[in-house]
Amino acid sequence: MAVRGEVVKLDRGYPLVRLEDGTLLRAEHATALVKEGQERAVIGDEVLVALPDEHDKAIIEEILPRRRTFTRKDPTERALPQVLAANFDQVIVAQPITEVNLRRLERELVLAFETGAKVAVVLTKADLAADADAVASVEAKVRALAGANVPVLVMSAEDPTSVEAVRALMAPNTMTILIGRSGVGKSSLVNLLAGSAVQQTSAVREGDGKGRHTTVSREIVPLGNGARVVDMPGVRGLGLWEAEEGLDAAFADIAQLAEQCRFRDCQHQQEPGCAVRAAVEAGEISPERFASYQALVEETRALKQRREEARWMQKEQPGAKRRGHKKRSGKNK
Ligand code: GDP
Ligand code: ZN
Repeated sequence: MAVRGEVVKLDRGYPLVRLEDGTLLRAEHATALVKEGQERAVIGDEVLVALPDEHDKAIIEEILPRRRTFTRKDPTERALPQVLAANFDQVIVAQPITEVNLRRLERELVLAFETGAKVAVVLTKADLAADADAVASVEAKVRALAGANVPVLVMSAEDPTSVEAVRALMAPNTMTILIGRSGVGKSSLVNLLAGSAVQQTSAVREGDGKGRHTTVSREIVPLGNGARVVDMPGVRGLGLWEAEEGLDAAFADIAQLAEQCRFRDCQHQQEPGCAVRAAVEAGEISPERFASYQALVEETRALKQRREEARWMQKEQPGAKRRGHKKRSGKNK
């Protein structure tokens, strides 16, 4: 008999599943599941597990349909999606306020919006900023970029009030995933929210201020009020997968202007009557932001083309082994 559970921790061992009665146990994937779709459970997945008497481990027999996923392009494969987390309600993007990278932030926001979840930005390490003016000017730039619908908070691990403000973003019975490059202070934040050292923090390397990697384990951390949070370490490459909705949301200013372009399929390059280029020339949209948008659009276009080519190749060779990811992407939406 199979029972329902949730994948609450992924590390080097077998996925840790919490059953509805609270029991925690390690579970391996059923052979059939792996063979059929090359599918692996991710953090947040709801699963059906069997508890055979003769095994010391449970068996994941089915991964239930995901109501939401955080998906990037698989960094090691040519044109496959990689799901990193499932069934969360909010994505918080973290960047250190002293080293905000607006281009990376744009990419992170596209990925976050594409999930359909709520999105917020947390600017960490405010104590390292030169002064209040420096904080205010970076915060203003990030607010302008993130848009009016995205809360932007400034915090420091040393300022409990600012940590409480981040906690207030996390409603009871919701799950938040925390993304951002290594060393921005995600684990420190999770520890402060949880009220104990549940996550190992990494010492920052001298010189470049980048964090060193201690672990790539992912765990759902309960915060007491029923809210839960997952630090997503080790997410280095953030290649876009499907991103049309994410692009429209993260670049709402450009998407809105594009509706006024003379041609419906305007690429905002040399076409006459292009409202987007006019806005760039008038200084309403920065050339950097426009270039970033164009580059991200091109990235998804090139990927789509490769996927179509791969699909065509599969049709040409009906005997070829299917990867089964088509089925999965259908479930993800
Ligand atoms: P993660 O890789 O994003 O999980 O980052 P960590 O939480 O491991 O933090 C990386 C380093 O930054 C550690 O040395 C932390 O002590 C330090 N750190 C985290 N938050 C703050 C902060 O608000 N202010 C300062 N000055 N350092 C911080
Ligand atoms: Zn145009």
